[in-house]
Amino acid sequence: MKTLFVTLEKDQRETRVGVIPADARKLVALGWDVNVESGAGAKAGFSDADYQAAGAKIVTGDFASQADFVVSVRKPTIEDAGKFKKGSFHLSLLDPFNEKGLIKAFADAGVYAASFEMIPRSTIAQKMDVLSSQSNLGGYSAVIRAASLINRILPMMMTPAGTISPLKFFIVGVGVAGLQAIATAKRLGARVEAFDTRPVVEEQVKSLGAKFVKIDLGQTGQTAQGYAKELTPEQLEMQRKGMAKVCAQSDVIITTAKLFGRKAPRIISAEMVGGMKRGSVIIDMAVESGGNVEGSRPDEIVMTPNGVMIVGDTCLETRVPATASQMFSSNVYNYINHFTVDGQFKLNFDDAIMKSSVVTADGQITDKRFM
Ligand code: NAD
Repeated sequence: MKTLFVTLEKDQRETRVGVIPADARKLVALGWDVNVESGAGAKAGFSDADYQAAGAKIVTGDFASQADFVVSVRKPTIEDAGKFKKGSFHLSLLDPFNEKGLIKAFADAGVYAASFEMIPRSTIAQKMDVLSSQSNLGGYSAVIRAASLINRILPMMMTPAGTISPLKFFIVGVGVAGLQAIATAKRLGARVEAFDTRPVVEEQVKSLGAKFVKIDLGQTGQTAQGYAKELTPEQLEMQRKGMAKVCAQSDVIITTAKLFGRKAPRIISAEMVGGMKRGSVIIDMAVESGGNVEGSRPDEIVMTPNGVMIVGDTCLETRVPATASQMFSSNVYNYINHFTVDGQFKLNFDDAIMKSSVVTADGQITDKRFM
């Protein structure tokens, strides 16, 4: 493999780019001819000239069909996937659980399609873990978004004009995004409480100076990959009851609760929202996979009759595109570098990372869950 192509993202909401100039330079040093679609980095603050200065070539038109390796942030359309060169490699956020038609198109086209979502959560794969790098920034952005929408300040202030109490934040779901949301809200001076169904999280919450809300749900836990196990409907009801009082007292709620490959749990009911104070803000970070909050809508701000704002931003990390692209691009570079032997990108299905991330190979879909 020799030519690598970095696409201009087709989704208008997308602000990130798959490879930034600094990593284009490193890929050129690895021996790649790096081709970048004109304007690909513009929304993230990188010009075509920046890429050229890094040794990349700026191209326009249907270049993906000529490249050996195509990188993008979001998945291509089914039509575009069908045009990729036979035997080429593609890497992006493919969303394979929900994109079976696209996965079939890749198999039919004879493309090796790798999904960032399927990279294992192992120590060695951490440097290529896009879910983590982007969720981390999503958690940060959720707090900044809430802070910019709420009509009050976050920290406590003691002034001659009176004492201002700190805002109360409640973080539901403490994975990568939730941990960063706690840390960011704490840095801005808020009082923070948090809850997760995985008991191991309690220590992490406390170490960030936040309070862990205790709700006895009986048997819960996590999978070998560290993901939450699904709750029974009875357990979810117990969770709602246990959380209702904390919700009513919170000024900001950020929900991040997801179940890998499945619909997000509906945790906050309309009744619970109805019990919140006027002017409170809820950020539902799981809105794209079904939503944790009743009434949230993708990419909309819903104002409830009792004056609570429910924010359904679908991709909060796109609000910090330069940083998000820097991290994404570093993950891409580390993936490619991991499989580079003697200056050549080599397919290696004995490697757990490639075995798990590549969802189509030799004209076949490699995982039954995506058929
Ligand atoms: P995620 O985005 O799938 O889910 C977010 C959080 O929601 C999780 O903490 C989950 O437990 C929680 N959740 C699910 N249902 C819930 C409910 N009903 N109520 C409250 N919370 C609920 O998770 P993630 O951020 O991708 O991380 C999952 C785990 O994987 C974490 O333990 C993380 O530390 C671990 N991880 C490990 C590595 C690594 O070892 N390299 C890398 C990344 C993440």
